[in-house]
Amino acid sequence: MPVPKQRVGHSDQGHRRSNWKATVPALTKCQHCGAVKLPHVLCVECGFYKNRIVSEKFHTHDHGDDHDHDHDHG
Ligand SMILES: [Zn+2]
Repeated sequence: MPVPKQRVGHSDQGHRRSNWKATVPALTKCQHCGAVKLPHVLCVECGFYKNRIVSEKFHTHDHGDDHDHDHDHG
């Protein structure tokens, strides 16, 4: 028959589970766009992860504004 070694007071009872905290907000910067992101998680801004774009929804080509820079070396 299990018997408690020590009687737990009313405040300790609630204290037991209140001791865990949220994880430390460790943040890194995206190598691709520089946005603050979680480490080991793909960037929510551009879908960049492990040196490449992993999310295809970011892999779009219509940016709308194509800036044509003329570099005439001649
Ligand atoms: Zn990014």
